[in-house]
Amino acid sequence: MNMTGVIIGVESTAHTFSFGLVSEDGTPHKSYSALFRPEEGGIHPREAADHHSELASDLVSKLMSGENLQSSNIKAIAYSQGPGLGPCLRVGANVARALSEKWNIPLIGVNHCVAHIEIGRNQTGCMDPVLLYVSGGNTQVIARAGDRYQVLGETLDIGIGNMLDKFARTQGMAFPGGPKIEKIASDWYKDNPNADVDLVPLPYSVQGMDLNFSGLLNAAIQKVNEGFELGAVCWSLQEHAFAACIEVAERALAHSGKSELLLGGGVACNERIREMTQVMCNQRGCDGTWPEKQYCIDNGTMIAELGRRMLQTQGPTSFQASAINPSLRTDHTIVTWD
Ligand code: AMP
Ligand code: MG
Repeated sequence: MNMTGVIIGVESTAHTFSFGLVSEDGTPHKSYSALFRPEEGGIHPREAADHHSELASDLVSKLMSGENLQSSNIKAIAYSQGPGLGPCLRVGANVARALSEKWNIPLIGVNHCVAHIEIGRNQTGCMDPVLLYVSGGNTQVIARAGDRYQVLGETLDIGIGNMLDKFARTQGMAFPGGPKIEKIASDWYKDNPNADVDLVPLPYSVQGMDLNFSGLLNAAIQKVNEGFELGAVCWSLQEHAFAACIEVAERALAHSGKSELLLGGGVACNERIREMTQVMCNQRGCDGTWPEKQYCIDNGTMIAELGRRMLQTQGPTSFQASAINPSLRTDHTIVTWD
């Protein structure tokens, strides 16, 4: 690869263990990732962490050979400091510390949620967006105010992706369930283009600027048990869950006076939430935008991109300050970059 220098990013907040990179001018390159898929049930943090540590050296080798990297090209290494599952975060942080020592390069701990914003800005060119961050473990509506990204609204219980995965699991579908629900819903809708959202009535759970999804999850399971067609339930589930997110995002646009809505997180891969975003933004005269799918899901490249920006404006993270923080908040990080 023809490059002067690169920054590597290590992502390990939950299921995904990923190494990615950006060049010093911020050009993103693909990530090398492994997804922990539990044989049954949900994610067990210890098992996911074991998966990550077993694959670490393999992924680093793939990154180095796939990108034709020499250690002399590597200028810094960034890692997710939080929020996430402690045992998983610890594996990523340890690998990053070790590589920083080995290659004698700066270490940068970054905020995972903020990384979703920065890769989105990098990819789409939006300047000052409201971020609708819809992932497995997180559902937040975020916007910059002063020197912080503030959370304007968020889920009060589980993340939207978690809700989709849990529903899918009750129907015998393996993790990740979100894409499978999308396929079932869109196939069903093709055969039922006049479907009404009340065909399978489900709770609509917006509370002020906040959201919740466990009532919706239980109600959807109940509807299948009552004999409603799975396709109809999947479709209605998506309509209800996504509309709730879009409603809160729209209110955030109105309150903040911002005119760009950015999607991020794995659920932002979904074509229906993208379509709803587009419709709402067109009505408001705003821009709705999202990064490529590989940068919506958790990935090392976004960690590298935020690391690059922090290194330019704040310098590296000292070893003493490099501990992980599983409950790191989005608004904890001071935004020092443009
Ligand atoms: P993340 O936590 O950001 O890595 O995203 C993973 C989550 O995104 C999982 O809960 C997936 O089920 C969900 N997801 C991925 N692709 C889709 C999709 N096309 N539609 C809905 N959810 C999706
Ligand atoms: Mg994420």
